Amino acid sequence: MHSNKLFNRTRWQLAGWYAIVTAMLFGICGVGVYQVVSYTQRYILQQKLQDLAGTLHDTIEPELQQPGQISSSLKTILPGLCLWNENCHSSSNDGARHTARVFQQEGYYLRFLDESGRVLATSGEQPNVLKRFAPREFWQVLNCSKGDRFYQISLLLRTNSGLPWGYLQIGRSLKEWDSYLNILRLLLFLGLPFAMLLLGGASWWLAGVAMQPIYQSYRQMQQFTSDAAHELRTPLAVIQTTVEDTRLAEDLPEVNQNLDIIERQNIRLSRLVKDLLFICRIEQQQISTQLQPCSLNDLIGDLVEELAGLAMMGEVHLKLEIRASQATMILGDEVQLYRMVTNLITNAIHYTPPGGLILAILDCTDKEAVIQVQDRGVGIAPAEQTRIFDRFYRVQSDRSRATGGAGLGLSIASAIAHAHQGSIQVESELGKGSTFTIRLPLK
Ligand code: ADP
Repeated sequence: MHSNKLFNRTRWQLAGWYAIVTAMLFGICGVGVYQVVSYTQRYILQQKLQDLAGTLHDTIEPELQQPGQISSSLKTILPGLCLWNENCHSSSNDGARHTARVFQQEGYYLRFLDESGRVLATSGEQPNVLKRFAPREFWQVLNCSKGDRFYQISLLLRTNSGLPWGYLQIGRSLKEWDSYLNILRLLLFLGLPFAMLLLGGASWWLAGVAMQPIYQSYRQMQQFTSDAAHELRTPLAVIQTTVEDTRLAEDLPEVNQNLDIIERQNIRLSRLVKDLLFICRIEQQQISTQLQPCSLNDLIGDLVEELAGLAMMGEVHLKLEIRASQATMILGDEVQLYRMVTNLITNAIHYTPPGGLILAILDCTDKEAVIQVQDRGVGIAPAEQTRIFDRFYRVQSDRSRATGGAGLGLSIASAIAHAHQGSIQVESELGKGSTFTIRLPLK
């Protein structure tokens, strides 16, 4: 496949497209994973802040009396609270309640603002925010001058008499989440080229595997074209020279002789084309097989009798061996079955040296009829055994040419066996002989 430019290019293209499409899918999946992780993180944080803010809101609101005034009871609830006019950088709250303690944890902060947005009191480390945000926004992401981000919730507070008091803001640093997402982003970005590399290799290999059967049939087609051309060339060349000879012929007997040659070559060509058409049609199921109950015992018996003369001419012994205990009946087209077994027996006769034995065996199992044609002839090399069923394929063309075959006999036998839902196999050893086995489903 490597030496063929077209296949090589197609393989590269296939591998390239496959790698691009898979990389795109990977990329989309990566972005999806990133989005889900970041959404989940934000959602968890939102829930936490919302719960905390809700609890504080419900605890604090009954204690608020004057709008914008921090009452002493509020300081009791939140012992770590630092008023705007106090200097309380290191407040310690040993006896603080749970809600207050949360703000001592790194990253959380709380603050109270009046209605105009002025800070009244704070707890926890406050972010150094670049931009001032309107406290009315429920959720805010604050960008700090150091590059850190904070997620913040703002709730409107009312006095116990229902007047607007100001705002409660609770926030948390996004530093931890951001660094986690940064690592994830980095992994995805670095992972993508690495995955692309692996994908490229895998795609190249997969494209090769996928194209192998196409390449095989392409090779078969090439072989078929060259074999067919080779097969047609000889009779056409003979016809051409005979026509030229005829033009120069001086008497009628010579002309008649030449015409005979042309006729013979023409018959040969017609048979070739007919056989080829037969194989094509039977493979494409364009020939309807006339399925009728057939007795294989009768069919093979008749055939052996009929071919006995040919065997005698080839100075080989042809014997019939019926191993099946009862009549073997199948559903089939008698004419085609006849042709299939004839091809095998005539081949065996052709490829068995004088004095050799050929056995035509009929056997059957529970489900199948088994026909075997066994010879002790020249045999077929293992490398050739898979190819002899190809159209026009002949082992050692020169020797085969002497037999007169065009290399279509086994292709026809195989096509007929398959049209009968059967199979054909060969077992052979060079110099020792061959056994062709046909299996056909019983009626
Ligand atoms: P052909 O008409 O040339 O015999 P086939 O398709 O029948 O063509 O056979 C293909 C090739 O298989 C032949 O060229 C021959 O070399 C080989 N072959 C078939 N049958 C036998 C056999 N019984 N013994 C040895 N070689 C065989």
